[in-house]
Amino acid sequence: MSSGCGHAVEYLYRYLDEELTWSHRIRIRWHLRRCPHCCSAFEFEAKLKELIRERGCDEPPPELFDRLHALIQQETGEIS
Ligand SMILES: [Zn+2]
Repeated sequence: MSSGCGHAVEYLYRYLDEELTWSHRIRIRWHLRRCPHCCSAFEFEAKLKELIRERGCDEPPPELFDRLHALIQQETGEIS
């Protein structure tokens, strides 16, 4: 079991919003390297955010969310 998942998830959104100090960012990157669970969650959020920015909308459409989720599950080889 990996430790620090709670903190990683807690800081995930702030990381993506670039609201964190460098020490927090390093700590999260370190955790992501060791924790596939948080890593896939992080990639999902990062891709979603990227797409939202490209489209210039505030709310992601539900089908986009589903498609991304499927994509990342394929990448990580997880079936849920
Ligand atoms: Zn984790």
